[in-house]
Amino acid sequence: MSATPSISQVDSPTSKTLELIPPLLGASVSELTAWVQQQGQPAYRGKQLHDWIYHKQVRSLADISVFPKQWRAEVADIPIGRSTIHYRKTAPDGTVKYLLQLADGQIVETVGIPAERRLTVCVSTQVGCPMACDFCATGKGGYTRNLGRHEIIDQVLTVQEDFQERVSNVVFMGMGEPLLNVDNVLGAITSLNQDVGIGQRMLTVSTVGIRDRIRQFAQHHLQVTLAVSLHAPNQVLREQLIPSARSYPLEDLLAECREYVIITGRRLTFEYVLLAGVNDLPEHALELAKHLRGFQSHVNLIPYNPIQEVDYQRPKHDRIQAFVNVLQQQNIAVTVRYSRGLEADAACGQLRVNKK
Ligand code: SAH
Repeated sequence: MSATPSISQVDSPTSKTLELIPPLLGASVSELTAWVQQQGQPAYRGKQLHDWIYHKQVRSLADISVFPKQWRAEVADIPIGRSTIHYRKTAPDGTVKYLLQLADGQIVETVGIPAERRLTVCVSTQVGCPMACDFCATGKGGYTRNLGRHEIIDQVLTVQEDFQERVSNVVFMGMGEPLLNVDNVLGAITSLNQDVGIGQRMLTVSTVGIRDRIRQFAQHHLQVTLAVSLHAPNQVLREQLIPSARSYPLEDLLAECREYVIITGRRLTFEYVLLAGVNDLPEHALELAKHLRGFQSHVNLIPYNPIQEVDYQRPKHDRIQAFVNVLQQQNIAVTVRYSRGLEADAACGQLRVNKK
């Protein structure tokens, strides 16, 4: 178990600050202040340390020039928690895919997606993924471990530094299933918000749905957007695509999503990958609409991005449009999201640890 404080502990003014165990990335000003004082330094150095970690994006305590020389030498080996860029590739649309090497040598993938007056980072939450969805490259490689809070925040700082531009949006849609790593995801959300300075509304967490976890997530009353990967309008089809659907049926998932809307008062997004001839027929759209009628939600259609291991196809444009039309006729809010970064294998579902 790590000593990462949960979000409620971080937020609650009455809670005691837990002892901070490095890496330091992810710690709040008050935690860093307590930490510098434990090291025999004056309290104001906590604010300085915070500024150098999150805003000057220093990679080693030895480089914090406002600190006394002797103390810098003493703490030089205490890790901040930054990764190194192992590989970087830019797609023609400007999307940049990074493979980042972590302290234990593991590699994770991060994507930087620039747009006019926006810079979005797609972060991973696990090394690999245990969910094994049939159409997703990440699941084909198996699962290694959860990422720590600092390893999630680091991805955002790395893209910010590389683009020399502030990150405006973060989507938890990289490798891994965020709701299998709830504490570190919540810790990262708190820190991205309070330390890095990104508004909660600019954050989106995407989940395939883990029993009870959507309700638990709702109870934190965050302003982040929750996206749920539905991908099929009925249980039979969903089970074919998503192995975990067998033990967590569609009806139960939708019921928990309804609870989410009631608890948070927020609308949620349903993601639906369009696979030609599999789940993209007009009758699928009708069936989906029946489930979602009156549901405070929005459907995000993601035309399939090809991966090596399976031979699904992306539907032709008119098929996609026909699916959209059915949903719209049924008064379901819908957008089509063509993924960016396809040519760099950086698009949704294409994330794996290779340099292709
Ligand atoms: N584990 C999370 C995040 C996954 S990635 C989740 O399941 O939601 C974000 C989205 O990309 C998910 O909706 C995922 O199902 C989708 N996706 C996976 N493989 C894809 C592919 N090959 N083409 C298009 N979208 C894909």
